[in-house]
Amino acid sequence: MAETGHTPEPVVALDGVSKTYELGGETVEALADVSLSLPEGSYTAVMGPSGSGKSTLLNLVGGLDTPGDGSVTVGGRELGGLSERERAAVRGGEVGFVFQTFNLMPRLTAVENVALPLVFQGWSRDERRARAEERLADVGLGDRLNHQPTELSGGQRQRVAIARALAPSPAVLLADEPTGNVDTDTGAQVMGLLDDLHAAGNTVLLVTHERRIAEHAGRVVHVRDGVVERIEDLDDPTPGGGA
Ligand code: ADP
Ligand code: MG
Repeated sequence: MAETGHTPEPVVALDGVSKTYELGGETVEALADVSLSLPEGSYTAVMGPSGSGKSTLLNLVGGLDTPGDGSVTVGGRELGGLSERERAAVRGGEVGFVFQTFNLMPRLTAVENVALPLVFQGWSRDERRARAEERLADVGLGDRLNHQPTELSGGQRQRVAIARALAPSPAVLLADEPTGNVDTDTGAQVMGLLDDLHAAGNTVLLVTHERRIAEHAGRVVHVRDGVVERIEDLDDPTPGGGA
């Protein structure tokens, strides 16, 4: 991209984000004063042990939850300023979510699963079908369009889920432990696909507790007890490099 002399707006920005949960009279501080920005086309991993706040962070970016404090901006829009209806539109169009457990609709075929989020974008049936076929071809499943999830392997299911997440051409792809439910070889294939999607220009935010998975990203955000401990730049590993 040509130098234009100014920093482009990040695709995602968290500024001083905190989130506490009340459960059975106890308060859990899931995130405390987290700030993070994702430039367009960046590949970031959030890494930390179980319970460190990774999913909470991803859910806030995806508009599935709202912060107690601070701001979350996606595609230039501050989610806190939106109505529930507007936030649902951001969820449906600006972010693509991939989960550990795939979350596909069991009675729908691959192409129907991928076309589903486009219903909420006001697309015609033919447009939805064409886009879904295209996205499935992109993830190497052009020959599995009419298979139901039970007729697909774990890795193929996750690829359908990734195609579905990308169907509306979201500003950012969010993946929460995407290899958590597949074997090592399949996990490597899923990560290879995320790498390809990043190389094709997608902005990717990945959550994992595994170093080996996090290393696919250009930058690793280490979280512990809801706090960002440090940000590691793998593309430029000199101390303080790439800041
Ligand atoms: P991770 O994804 O890193 O394993 P989470 O973001 O899921 O961590 O959780 C962070 C902390 O917040 C944990 O202590 C967890 O128990 C708590 N937590 C997460 N979601 C909720 C919720 N809906 N209600 C109460 N506590 C929650
Ligand atoms: Mg989690």
